[in-house]
Amino acid sequence: MVSLTYTLKVEGNVVDQTDTKNPLHFLYGVGQMIPGFERQLEGLKTGDNYEFSVTAEEGYGNIIPEDIVEIPKETFMEDGKLIPELVLGGIIHMQDNHGNRLRGEVREIKENSVIMDFNHPLADKTLHFTGTIVSVREAEAEEIAHGHVHGEGGHHH
Ligand code: ZN
Repeated sequence: MVSLTYTLKVEGNVVDQTDTKNPLHFLYGVGQMIPGFERQLEGLKTGDNYEFSVTAEEGYGNIIPEDIVEIPKETFMEDGKLIPELVLGGIIHMQDNHGNRLRGEVREIKENSVIMDFNHPLADKTLHFTGTIVSVREAEAEEIAHGHVHGEGGHHH
């Protein structure tokens, strides 16, 4: 079980950040985190600072052209009106034919259709992480079975 702080920068801009009051707690090695992040944390101890970059291949992957799709505009109608989220750059949560939840960004609004991009917003990006290891301890068997952290910063049940 690892607790750490991190600052995630992409192209020089801070995208996500935690501080020592609200560190991130996670189970190491169970696939909760992106592979390149866990791999480069290996061997670090409590109190260590870290700084490394994660390529898109080991991060959120590359942009998949097939995940940019044209959808009929009537899909975005509710009660006979277009939903307010339908603006350029708007984020819309949808479902595919298998019931999977998808997060899409509006790329282009045409007369009768909309171009939606369902790629991860950090796809194709190199991720730059800095932070400090707050604590490391062995995960309890129950945490491993549940796949999440118990206690401080985790689930209470
Ligand atoms: Zn649990």
